[in-house]
Amino acid sequence: MKTYQHLFFDLDHTLWDYDRNVQESLSELFLHYKLENLGVLSPQHFIDAFYAVNFKLWAAYDKGELQKEELRTTRFPRIFAHAGVADALIPEEFEIDFMHRTSTKPHLFPHTIEILDYLKPKYKLYVITNGFDESQAKKMNSSGLNDYFELVITSETTGHKKPDPRIFHYALEQAGASKENSLMIGDNPISDIKGAHGAGIDQVFFNPLGKSVDIIPTYTISHLRELEGIL
Ligand SMILES: [Mg+2]
Repeated sequence: MKTYQHLFFDLDHTLWDYDRNVQESLSELFLHYKLENLGVLSPQHFIDAFYAVNFKLWAAYDKGELQKEELRTTRFPRIFAHAGVADALIPEEFEIDFMHRTSTKPHLFPHTIEILDYLKPKYKLYVITNGFDESQAKKMNSSGLNDYFELVITSETTGHKKPDPRIFHYALEQAGASKENSLMIGDNPISDIKGAHGAGIDQVFFNPLGKSVDIIPTYTISHLRELEGIL
């Protein structure tokens, strides 16, 4: 077994519970803006519309087909259209309100803090994320993650998104780490696992829902506490 010294974590869906934080925010927005009066059937209907649209937009963003500003300005118009609401009825500042609520939600995956407390004295910890600087910083802050990590490397700062090996090379350089003594932990088979593999870094695939995937990661876990058996 290799001796790892540097651990690189993905943030969304790995430590920060994206689904819970987003769904809670969308449910609040449904009530706050009385979306049932605009024709949205229920909070769940709104959440379903969000997932149907947002996933495709992020996939386009990941491929470089869409820029950040375009993603932000077209997201909710498309989501509302998907939910059957006319453009003119969309509340102003909806995107800003959504971003603020979501990025200040504190929910983490079970055992995140316990495992970070376990790892922190033994390893140097970092985050590598494809999210945007400002929102990722707010998420780290509101969920109490900041003190655990030496560095947060975002695709926005780096100019390259996972799985591009350049973001991993940049991270290693910033950390003063080598690919041999580093380990990437993340939930995304492509961006985290294939990405790290392509950069020569061992990987832990965090797969809480037991999705079937066509990758062979160095390790696979379904709970974060299983890292104690590896590290
Ligand atoms: Mg993720």
